[in-house]
Amino acid sequence: MVHRFFGGVHPAGNKEATEGVAIAPLTLPVPQVVLPMSQHVGAPCKPTVQVGDLVKVGQVIGEPAGLGAPIHASVSGKVIAVEPRPHTSGGSVLAVVIENDGQDTPADPIPVPAPVEELTPEQVIELVRAAGITGMGGAGFPTHVKLSSGMGKVDTIILNGAECEPYITADHRLMLERPEKVIQGGRVLMRALGLQKLIIGIEANKMDAVEALKAKAPADVEVRALRVRYPQGSEKQLIQNITGRQVPPGGLPAHVGCAVFNVATAAAVYDACYEGKPVTHRIVTVTGKAVMSPVNVEVPLGIPLQTLVDAAGGFKGTPGRILSGGPMMGVAQYDLAPPVIKGTNALLVLRGREFTPTPKGTLTCIHCGRCVSACPMKLTPLFFNQRFTAGRYEELEGLRILDCIECGSCAFSCPAHIPLVQSIRAGKMEVRRLQAKAKAEAEAAKAEAEAAKAEKKEEVSAK
Ligand code: SF4
Ligand code: SF4
Repeated sequence: MVHRFFGGVHPAGNKEATEGVAIAPLTLPVPQVVLPMSQHVGAPCKPTVQVGDLVKVGQVIGEPAGLGAPIHASVSGKVIAVEPRPHTSGGSVLAVVIENDGQDTPADPIPVPAPVEELTPEQVIELVRAAGITGMGGAGFPTHVKLSSGMGKVDTIILNGAECEPYITADHRLMLERPEKVIQGGRVLMRALGLQKLIIGIEANKMDAVEALKAKAPADVEVRALRVRYPQGSEKQLIQNITGRQVPPGGLPAHVGCAVFNVATAAAVYDACYEGKPVTHRIVTVTGKAVMSPVNVEVPLGIPLQTLVDAAGGFKGTPGRILSGGPMMGVAQYDLAPPVIKGTNALLVLRGREFTPTPKGTLTCIHCGRCVSACPMKLTPLFFNQRFTAGRYEELEGLRILDCIECGSCAFSCPAHIPLVQSIRAGKMEVRRLQAKAKAEAEAAKAEAEAAKAEKKEEVSAK
């Protein structure tokens, strides 16, 4: 049974340039890699190497200092710097810089303590942690944490192969070319959660991938084609579509008994559990009308975005917009020095007004309500923008701005071209700042009250 989610939009897929292009290894020279210590949701890792150290491919170079996942060297060579470097999210982040010796000397694989079918859930979780696996669809949440928090609470596991963002085909090609890895990695996750069945959801515009997976799927794996509607690949919308369950506002998939993992995450789990390999490389789609030869390329983490452009034959004309990720949720890049990280699934190099729906917007809200109809989370994006631009930040939390999944459907449908997602992101930061301020004030008031109480007690006992 199909359970449709509210809202959503139908942007042009624009996947033709790369959906038929096989994944190729990077053949360009990589003189050095820059590995940021922040590649996941949570606290940045602490470097475990120093300048001058020699490292091998797959060696741990950063360990989490709280919520996070370890980071591994993607080339062998010498550590030449441990310092802040530009990051695709903007700003600078502490990074380990390795000069590549070109030898690709491997580190010892992660020890796999038993044949994969006999691994206990705890052993799988430890392997996933040691391999540094995080949500490879771009979310970056540490996979071992998702697994351990889902144990005993989850009755449905879904692999997300929707890849609903326009232009991106990295997951499509992965499912088509490496279906066993996706399926067997997904079954490892399934067993770790104590479940008997795995569902893989794929948008129906990738029927060749649906067929490729079906051809390899054992009885406990169901491959389901989903209708094409953005943001079908968003966790909450995918869950609703497949199970009919609605994740409550502010809730997590586990609250409705579901766990969702990206198909590339499942492939990384396969590498970790069957081959003892950590995350050192990833597949990236490099496309858009302003590159010569769009590609799906498998690259070591830490190469600069410029090398991705070079892998696609360089610029064709002058690029209009460059985005890390897709056109709906991607982050604009103004410099090509930031490196590829675990969550980099695409680099989009757009020409002129490519993917801009109408030629000119007024930037003034005409109260047409299209953004509200398009919002899959049933929010009111026009009010977010209105309150944010008026500086009325204290009203944003009540409007449920923190429930926004930043899918961009509202901005896509806005005839006035108001940059709604920009004001939503900035508005969320203001809400979090206000929350932190209120928490600090409450704690200070509590401490003051306790001090006054203790003082009074002392006075009484002194009398
Ligand atoms: S308000 Fe957020 S969730 Fe709703 S459409 Fe806009 S970006 Fe998507
Ligand atoms: S779609 Fe744009 S113009 Fe229409 S109500 Fe929303 S913000 Fe205003």
